[in-house]
Amino acid sequence: MARVTGQVSQRLSQYLIISGETREGVTANQVKLGVQITPELYMPLSWFSAAMQCVSGAELGIALAQYGGCAVLPRSLSIEDQVAIGRRIKKHKAGFNYDVTTVRPDMAIGKLMEFSRRTGYSSYPVVEGRKLVGLITEKKYHPGKDGGRKVQERMIPLPDVVRAEEGILLTEANDLLLSRGVGMLPIVDKDGNFVSAVFYEDIRKHVQFPSEFVDKNMRYRFAGAVSTFKEDLDRAKALMEAGCDILVIDTSHLKGHFGENMIRELKSRFGVPLVAGNVIDGAGFIQAAEAGADMVKVGQGPGYGCTTREVKRTGRGQATALMEVARARDEYASRTGKRVPICADGGIETAGDMNVAYAIGADALMMGKYFGEFSESAAPVVKRRVRVTVNGNDMTVTVPFKQYWGEASRRAANIERYGYTSLARFVPEGGDGLIPLRGSIHDPDDGIEIDIAFVKKTMSESGALTPQEFSTRAELELQSEGAKDEGRSKV
Ligand code: IMP
Repeated sequence: MARVTGQVSQRLSQYLIISGETREGVTANQVKLGVQITPELYMPLSWFSAAMQCVSGAELGIALAQYGGCAVLPRSLSIEDQVAIGRRIKKHKAGFNYDVTTVRPDMAIGKLMEFSRRTGYSSYPVVEGRKLVGLITEKKYHPGKDGGRKVQERMIPLPDVVRAEEGILLTEANDLLLSRGVGMLPIVDKDGNFVSAVFYEDIRKHVQFPSEFVDKNMRYRFAGAVSTFKEDLDRAKALMEAGCDILVIDTSHLKGHFGENMIRELKSRFGVPLVAGNVIDGAGFIQAAEAGADMVKVGQGPGYGCTTREVKRTGRGQATALMEVARARDEYASRTGKRVPICADGGIETAGDMNVAYAIGADALMMGKYFGEFSESAAPVVKRRVRVTVNGNDMTVTVPFKQYWGEASRRAANIERYGYTSLARFVPEGGDGLIPLRGSIHDPDDGIEIDIAFVKKTMSESGALTPQEFSTRAELELQSEGAKDEGRSKV
């Protein structure tokens, strides 16, 4: 007969937080929401966007990294598409940019203008062979009159180009760029060959987003998802070649030898920071930690578009799963001295849900619907006519929505995540529908910073400076239906 755990599966929204004591000198501004993934890798905002087609694309990847978080590019994409998105995130900005589009001196300016319309760039180093011979910017030619001229007729010639030699420090390059008031600083080797460039625009972005999650060369970081199937070692290799910073084993059920083997393979082949999931019990966590995962992801069935529990009845309430795994993490840490952080994945829609997940013991969060609602998410916008009643008057208004589809829906058909080998036998475990369009992630009144501020405020009210302190200082209590009703606004 099966063992019955005796636990009652509970979700995050069933809990209330009883704040701990405030502490002198602890204010919301001082709270740090980052997570140490490996001794070398600190993510300034411990929020991942879910590895879902409708959520994590290049635009969200860039925007989220600006606030210190990280997008996980879905495994359901072809390797080419997943890698291309990763490259777009990496290309968006850099310290020394090695992937700069150059032009030749004999290019017609008309062609250059057409090229600029496609790329969106306005300045280019001019190279002959590999040698830097000048710089052309849109301010140097007349768009109406110079179309027939060659680049070399209008470019800034080499002697007048502000440039620096390879070996210069990034801080020195930035100072030179700012003191000379130029938009781009080409870097050349000792033979005058063009090597890279530093852009003013990238310095501006860094100042605007001081908490950004960047690699050694100031490029935004991204994570890529793979399954537990051996074929995905090729995918992992392609992702690593594109500069992927974190690999995520993304399967709905990690526990067992497929998951364990994949963790060992990826760690030994690539030595990359590795997040592995999902697990919902202590045994799953221990197995993943012992195999070498740097972070373990928790959740089965709480996702907004998830029908796993309806079709298979497998899974666990997210609050209960987190409690079990957090307990195993703490026991493992006191036994081995190694604290392997955990990431709550699924069922987190609001700052309140985030607070409860952190209070239980999550070190990081992964969210699909939450990020899917921002205009930067990868899903298309659709408009619907909706009937509303305002001041007693019925009216029909056009409302924009975002599409949201699960990775196990027919539309995404990420069959490997759910352990299928063939589409013919695939039973969907995910829905396909609409969620509200909230607006831009950057909106100061209703974007990501509002939720970051809410979470920081909640932690500071418990005198906590980090999620880890918060989970030891705050207490949790199950709420009755009556208490929930009491907590609802009546106005
Ligand atoms: P959300 O934040 O509630 O939208 O949950 C996102 C999480 O749901 C993802 O990170 C996955 O773990 C999970 N998920 C995504 N697609 C599906 C699906 O089709 N079925 C079941 N779970 C899914």
